[in-house]
Amino acid sequence: MSTTARSTNEYRELDAAHHLHPFSDMGSLNRQGSRVIVKGDGIYLWDSEGNKITDGMAGLWCVNIGYGRKDLAEVARQQMEDLAYYNTFFKTTHPRVVELSTLLAEVTQPGYQHVFYTNSGSESVDTVIRMVRQYWSIKGKPGKKTLISRWNGYHGSTIGGASLGGMTYMHEQGDLPIPGIAHIGQPWYLKEGRDGESEADFGLRAASWLEEKILEIGADKVAAFVGEPILGAGGVIIPPASYWPEIERICNKYDILLVADEVICGFGRTGDWFGHEHFGFRPHLFTIAKGLSSGYLPIGGVIIGDEVARTLIEGGDFNHGFTYSGHPVSAAVAHANVRALRDEGIVEQVKKDTGPYMQKRWREAFGGFEHVTDVRGVGLIQAFTWVKNKATREMFAGSDDVGTLCRDIFFKHNLIMRACGDSMVSAPPLIITRTEIDAMLSTAVECVEQTEKLLQERGLV
Ligand SMILES: *Cc1c(COP(=O)(O)O)cnc(C)c1O
Repeated sequence: MSTTARSTNEYRELDAAHHLHPFSDMGSLNRQGSRVIVKGDGIYLWDSEGNKITDGMAGLWCVNIGYGRKDLAEVARQQMEDLAYYNTFFKTTHPRVVELSTLLAEVTQPGYQHVFYTNSGSESVDTVIRMVRQYWSIKGKPGKKTLISRWNGYHGSTIGGASLGGMTYMHEQGDLPIPGIAHIGQPWYLKEGRDGESEADFGLRAASWLEEKILEIGADKVAAFVGEPILGAGGVIIPPASYWPEIERICNKYDILLVADEVICGFGRTGDWFGHEHFGFRPHLFTIAKGLSSGYLPIGGVIIGDEVARTLIEGGDFNHGFTYSGHPVSAAVAHANVRALRDEGIVEQVKKDTGPYMQKRWREAFGGFEHVTDVRGVGLIQAFTWVKNKATREMFAGSDDVGTLCRDIFFKHNLIMRACGDSMVSAPPLIITRTEIDAMLSTAVECVEQTEKLLQERGLV
């Protein structure tokens, strides 16, 4: 495969000597050594030892179009020659950012005509925090400042994003959340549902936690509710169909902005262009990143509904932005990526063919295991959860680390899936074929069999 200048061991040693990885226990990683990834093509990666790896996670849920698109590389090369960089702060714009904004207005539903650019999902979430407060301030209600989100939600790793997120292990490191953020429970039936309660009833009850929180804080102090349509990093938590329409009703009732964090669900992951279309609600604004460029370059943004956009446009200066907001090379690549997702029928194929096929095969593959439950998915995002006892929904202890155990077995078999607690999740590139789905699942089933055996050997079940 790809020619590399150094040996695997050299890369590992230098990596350990000079590089701190995100979300990693560096002591333990350095003792083990990182796997060195050198090439990608389609749904596959290759490491420095020549192993071919199936990427069941599309990188970090972002390489929607698959690896190795030469047309995207060519667009980037050309744009760097024409105009590598210019900003949009001081009365200037450029063709690439105009074209991308126009295209985004086409692939979103009517009523979303404006976009504000960032470089990442976290920056998009931080932008939301500032933008909704600015909106209410323009409206003459500066007291509406608090944002409500959910425990186990993920909204990035900046101080704002990590605060809005509901990951307690992130809050513990660095005195988070910042003031002005409140959390409610997540809509996960397996953990929060009551015995005998229907999923539909549970969805309404989980939404009612928002109303309770609004009443507790006071509607005149609440700016927005922010949620992922499907909680991604929390373990692919898919709320019951009754949940989002009820959340929307509550937001409207109390005059609170509804914000969808579409960083994972956007750009075809669910088979629709955006997660809110799948669940049938209309956010006032929503974040994008990841699939926007399929990870080829960093770029994110906030798409703003017409009423909020009009208010911000008439409201004077918004003192916020990034040096690289609407970066011309990122914008050019994102434009080519989004156009390909649309014009090559990739999103449509997830909706009509590979999405439903994956869901059927996923259920067949994992539905029969004794310690696997909540086998779930939408489009090309799916998961299942390890449990001690299916009938009683008894979970493993966190210290058993069953998810990590299973993930490491996958990785040894050259298949990448992620463990979120004891949920195993997958979100492959959207270009995956039926044949590739079959091959991926047959390896995955072997790995799950091995995991179950290991659980017995270790006396965990
Ligand atoms: C990944 C993610 C983010 C953060 O995006 P970064 O580009 O890593 O900053 C925010 N929200 C959701 C839902 C995500 O999945």
